[in-house]
Amino acid sequence: MNLGRVQGIAISIHASWLLIFALVVYTLGAGYFAMLLPGWPPWQVWGYAVLSSLLFFLCVVLHELGHALVAKRQGIGVDGITLFLLGGVARMRAEPATPQAELQVALAGPAASIVLAALFGLASLALGGIEGTPPLGAITAYLAFINALVVAFNMVPAFPLDGGRTLRALLWWRIQDVARATRLASAGGKAFGILLMAGGLAFAGFGHFFNGLWFLLVGWFLTDAAASHYAQTLSQYSLAGVPLSEILEEQPNAVSGDTTIQELVDTRLGYSSPDPVPVVHEGRIEGLVGIPEVKRIDRAAWPFTTARDAMAPVGVYAVASSEHDAWDTLVSMSERSLDWMAVFENGEFRGLVSPRRLLQYARRRQGLAGA
Ligand SMILES: [Zn+2]
Repeated sequence: MNLGRVQGIAISIHASWLLIFALVVYTLGAGYFAMLLPGWPPWQVWGYAVLSSLLFFLCVVLHELGHALVAKRQGIGVDGITLFLLGGVARMRAEPATPQAELQVALAGPAASIVLAALFGLASLALGGIEGTPPLGAITAYLAFINALVVAFNMVPAFPLDGGRTLRALLWWRIQDVARATRLASAGGKAFGILLMAGGLAFAGFGHFFNGLWFLLVGWFLTDAAASHYAQTLSQYSLAGVPLSEILEEQPNAVSGDTTIQELVDTRLGYSSPDPVPVVHEGRIEGLVGIPEVKRIDRAAWPFTTARDAMAPVGVYAVASSEHDAWDTLVSMSERSLDWMAVFENGEFRGLVSPRRLLQYARRRQGLAGA
């Protein structure tokens, strides 16, 4: 669900957010405000619980806006901010290009939360603290506390939490090796995730089933995010700035339309997961023959059927130029769910790229960098 835009950044809510919102309202209504406002009519107690929860999530949006606006200023595309089960996330299209940029993006969110915590803390003090001037003292005290908690949780040095990103940026700055810095910070993320899950099991064991479940969920999410961000980050830093032409050099050449299917099966398509073979005539791609095309042809006819007879039309393939950036290509392929892209250089067909091929290349480069 879309809520609107701030400085061109779309803010939306995922359905799972309703669950955490209901939980926060319940905790405040049945616990915090019920305790601080004894004897108040239930509709008022629950009304303040809902109001405080809404303000809390507004603060979460401001935290994410902190990240998003600084990222935009660094030239990083931001798809939007989404509130979901575990809080908020600013969806960025790329990782920062330098440790300095990463540091600024990572700290912008907690900085916003610190300002909010301080403002609400001062307001609460002015109102006489948690039990002064009900219900405003209690509401502002809660918001000061919860924003401070957001800072404390996010600054744990566990990648991809803000603290983990800060740690990575500092390591990156110092050792000038983004892959190693990311590996170390991700290890922190996994360790913290496992710690949370262990805490969740302990909670559940002592009868706090719901808290336990929550810790398990957050811990699992963090462990998973640490692993997937690590892989994604490494791919990006290995592929960004690399032209497609460099990756294509290792590709098998195309065949002419007269090649028989039997020859293709013997030389190219007999392997376990073969790429489709481009069929080219005078530098122009005419079509592609892959396993699905071969399967349509009776085995007995393979020696007499040509690639031109069997090929799938090329019109279904997207095209890219050989100077195109490998990382941008991978992003655009995943956004458009493309399996293949035909790459041209000065109007001549040069080969095919697939996400698998790009990621293989990235892994090979990481292997070289790590050696
Ligand atoms: Zn953050």
